Amino acid sequence: MKYTEKERTNIRFEAGRCLYCYDAPCIKGCPANIDIPEFIKAIRELHDTRAARIVYDDNPLGAICAEICPSDELCRGKCTLAKQGKPINIPLLQHYAVQNILPDEDPIHYTGKKVAIIGAGPGGMAAAAFLSRHGILARIYEQSKKLGGVLNSTLPTERIPDGSIEMDFKRILSMNIEIHYNKTLGKNVHLKDLVKGNDAVIIATGLRSKKIDIKGSGHSNVFFADDFLKLARPAKPKKLGGHVIVIGGGDVAMDCATQALKTARRVSLYYRRGRNEMPASHEEIQRAEEHGVSLNYLCSPVQINRNNSGDLFLEFIENTLVEDKRGRPKPVAIKNTGFKVKCDGIVFAVGQTADEQLFRDLGFALDGNLPEIGDDYQSSVDNVYLVGDIVNGGGTVVEAVKLAKEVANLILEEL
Ligand SMILES: Cc1cc2nc3c(=O)[nH]c(=O)nc-3n(C[C@H](O)[C@H](O)[C@H](O)COP(=O)(O)OP(=O)(O)OC[C@H]3O[C@@H](n4cnc5c(N)ncnc54)[C@H](O)[C@@H]3O)c2cc1C
Ligand code: SF4
Repeated sequence: MKYTEKERTNIRFEAGRCLYCYDAPCIKGCPANIDIPEFIKAIRELHDTRAARIVYDDNPLGAICAEICPSDELCRGKCTLAKQGKPINIPLLQHYAVQNILPDEDPIHYTGKKVAIIGAGPGGMAAAAFLSRHGILARIYEQSKKLGGVLNSTLPTERIPDGSIEMDFKRILSMNIEIHYNKTLGKNVHLKDLVKGNDAVIIATGLRSKKIDIKGSGHSNVFFADDFLKLARPAKPKKLGGHVIVIGGGDVAMDCATQALKTARRVSLYYRRGRNEMPASHEEIQRAEEHGVSLNYLCSPVQINRNNSGDLFLEFIENTLVEDKRGRPKPVAIKNTGFKVKCDGIVFAVGQTADEQLFRDLGFALDGNLPEIGDDYQSSVDNVYLVGDIVNGGGTVVEAVKLAKEVANLILEEL
């Protein structure tokens, strides 16, 4: 992206506001631990290429994260100047910095060591970059024909403008990295072969929509979040009809609701607990409401019916909240409170899970629906590490980068 002279002046002005705090709370707020004051200083001193290097040293997905990090909860929210309501616009400065990256000039000494990585999402791509920089051949095996995982499959396209993904990935692909597309772990790639043929293996296969089995979920126009979000991405998204119901209360449910509004006249979201218990961030809930999504609380879906005229009806029951053994509010159905809502389409966004069957087949121990993991990010299979959403049960891109860096460092220590 080309910046105008006026934009450059504004960016230098913004960089000039930084206090270069001694304890830099912004760095503590960045999971990738980018030296934020140092790159801001480089921008201020007109060392733009140096600014880009500082960002990429700690975060190979620097352009992507400048666009989609929840920075108000992270670096920007922690900025000393946030107390006065004027935090430094760190994403803006990071976005500017990374435009100035030059190809790596430092010669890399190849060690002859190899690490296999399963999954080319943010976790896998970042791990490949961190390892490759240290002379390791990173061999990525990806089940689809595309890089990027969620970024190129279910993330709403308006969240990330064209160019950022390509920019980061082009740079990563210029490193010592092999990509094998259409390779699915457990089908046409086998863990024991990867363990045998490499010095370590990283699994970064991410999560998928959790399925719930309620009567009628097989009707047409009833979707789970992943499938629906894929259909909502094209320029001409799939129409589910005039009234769409979304079930769930997390960030993904909010994305489903706002995406459904692209084609529906009315979108109603139903959550089984109350507003205060919603796992979605405050900003996402507010955004959904501003878009016109109607939010409904304390009810759970029971069954779906379709009548002879083809209308869909979702039957709910009302809940009350009762403290469970750990003191958490648990929804409990109230007898005789059932009600039906007519709609044209239904999207279930009720959480995410790892591919449990795959991990069981591979002989991994499971902790709930995620593979069990030791303090050193090793799975229960020796020399096989885990990275990304399968570690934290669903986080953010920058958290996947953090995990990738930690695992790459552990592997580098071992090799
Ligand atoms: C709808 C939605 C919106 C989001 N919005 C944001 C946001 O605004 N900001 C933010 O920071 N984060 C956001 N996130 C979270 C973020 O996308 C994830 O934290 C991140 O993508 C996790 O990266 P990952 O590499 O662990 O997994 P993924 O991105 O899921 O990538 C996993 C990769 O592994 C591949 N794979 C899976 N199984 C196999 C197999 N058996 N063999 C080979 N390959 C396999 C998949 O095809 C995929 O390419 C969002 C997530 C969703 C679902
Ligand atoms: S906390 Fe804010 S003012 Fe302080 S160094 Fe970080 S960005 Fe600059």
